[in-house]
Amino acid sequence: MIGQRDTVNGAHFGFTDRWGGVSAVPYEELNLGGAVGDDPAAVTANRALAARTLGVDPARVVWMNQVHGAGVAVVDGPWGDRPVPSVDAVVTAERGLALAVLTADCVPVLLADPVAGVAAAAHAGRPGLVAGVVPAAVRAMTELGADPARIVARTGPAVCGRCYEVPEEMRAEVAAVEPAAHAVTSWGTPALDVSAGVHAQLERLGVCDLAQSPVCTRESKDHFSYRRDRATGRLAGYVWLD
Ligand SMILES: [Zn+2]
Repeated sequence: MIGQRDTVNGAHFGFTDRWGGVSAVPYEELNLGGAVGDDPAAVTANRALAARTLGVDPARVVWMNQVHGAGVAVVDGPWGDRPVPSVDAVVTAERGLALAVLTADCVPVLLADPVAGVAAAAHAGRPGLVAGVVPAAVRAMTELGADPARIVARTGPAVCGRCYEVPEEMRAEVAAVEPAAHAVTSWGTPALDVSAGVHAQLERLGVCDLAQSPVCTRESKDHFSYRRDRATGRLAGYVWLD
């Protein structure tokens, strides 16, 4: 259910694995994504199960309509009847409000400044890394009073640099923007390490409390991987402040 969790000065970070939910094959078991073809009732049940296991009210979790961009929405409560915006980062200064990001190989990025009481969740795949969604989220946090030097950053399970094979030109394009993302697969072909790229971006902004999940989604049978399975579920990362 909750594969990894961490609390730092009242800032809570949690990342799910694929087990402990009610979804059927190929979304078994804890699919939290609402746009992957799974039964909506199963997704709702899974989201409630995951929230309760984390100790969060399922009605106080903010989800995004992720589009591989760099858009950021500042939120002060659940969307309710409002349309869910197409953004790849959400930021809040509302304590107790949980922000959630969905992934299956992309990098889920959770950020919090426990002193300022500002949190953010971001979805960083290859396009998001290049577009700078994580720096955009940090800027939005700073505008709400956060200080990068106090930000605690956690990145979750994602496809690793030894598994994420891309064409040579694509690697060159991405590495031109973020050299830290340059990688080679375990079989010797061009690759990208998006997590390394995200961490380099955060370090450049002055974020120093950083931790990266050791899990590679493509290699772990306990996690959803789009590159491995195509039709599959979505993992979630959650961040909230006391
Ligand atoms: Zn890997």
